[in-house]
Amino acid sequence: MTAPTTLRVGVIGTGMIGRDHIRRMTTVLSGLAVVAVADVDPTVAERVAAEAGAVAFPDGLDLIAADSVDAVLVCSWGGTHERYVLAAIAAGKPVFCEKPLATTEKACLRIMAAEVAHGSRLVQVGYMRRYDAAYLAMKQTLESGAIGAPLMMHCAHRNAGVPAFYEPENTITDTAVHEIDMVRWMFGSEIAAVRVLRPRASRNAGDLPDPMLIVLELANGVLVDVEISVNVRYGYDIRGEILGEDGTVSLGDPGLISVRRAGRVATPVPADWRDRFGSTYDVELRAWADSVLGGGVSGGPGTWDGYAAAVVSDAAVRALRTGERIEVTLAERPGLY
Ligand code: NAP
Repeated sequence: MTAPTTLRVGVIGTGMIGRDHIRRMTTVLSGLAVVAVADVDPTVAERVAAEAGAVAFPDGLDLIAADSVDAVLVCSWGGTHERYVLAAIAAGKPVFCEKPLATTEKACLRIMAAEVAHGSRLVQVGYMRRYDAAYLAMKQTLESGAIGAPLMMHCAHRNAGVPAFYEPENTITDTAVHEIDMVRWMFGSEIAAVRVLRPRASRNAGDLPDPMLIVLELANGVLVDVEISVNVRYGYDIRGEILGEDGTVSLGDPGLISVRRAGRVATPVPADWRDRFGSTYDVELRAWADSVLGGGVSGGPGTWDGYAAAVVSDAAVRALRTGERIEVTLAERPGLY
């Protein structure tokens, strides 16, 4: 039997990122067909389905069960991810789950147990920085040995602003979690302990702990500091610099152009994460679809990575609340990962 050349995808959750992924799969990428859509709001699901030429399902679980769906994209609110990912595993269907994999450590462990029982990888988690050209070039430089063994990394994650629903812990679970996954991948090492330090608050902070400095101690001895600032107003600014024994490697300026006039050089700052990482999501979904069409989910961030990010996020939230250094304890890593 020859492998299918078109992946028939069902999308659960048609909010901001769900609709963006549908646009990506229908207008940017080839070899993908959005055949089914579900949302907690059936009117929205009907409208989005009509625009995409797909069928609207009243519930995500029905969508997962449908014969017309080969693979599932979970883009609903984080608290619903476990339910849909478990159902996809039970149906033996590949599932791309937007981050977080699930909102609690226990839920992540339940997903891991189900996937291990299934016996092969079905789950990819939407930690897209692993597909970003700048981070990939940085990792390649590090692994080439050009800057020697890594010692430290300095990161900044600055948002112009954040949604009204943000509570203090969202600065970690929704914002810093991208750096948490990125450094595990960059250095090939788990995070062993976390601290959170806070300077005086920004006058733009509202009730949020803004800014803050997260210190991640990696098991391999590398130390990472991550500045989180979620109300900088001037744009979306993602920075990173690794200090090695013989040199450094930094993320370049994301501005595609620079303008010189009136005695100044000006480079545009991205407005938000879509502006900065738009093409990265294209590469991410392309890689996912290719691996599924090739016979299995491989390579990308999986259940173990979603689990580890959740445990480190929990530890960082505790560090934020208590001001203490919190050690990270992970379960035994199953052979599947
Ligand atoms: P959003 O705009 O609020 O969209 C979530 C959508 O899911 C909404 O349409 C929501 O409906 C729907 N929904 C909620 N419960 C559902 C259920 N039980 N079944 C089906 N649909 C349900 O949020 P978003 O920004 O798109 O984020 C969605 C997910 O993607 C989150 O987990 C977020 O962390 C992740 N995300 C990842 C990135 C990234 O960089 N990788 C970027 C953005 C978002 P209502 O609006 O009616 O609640």
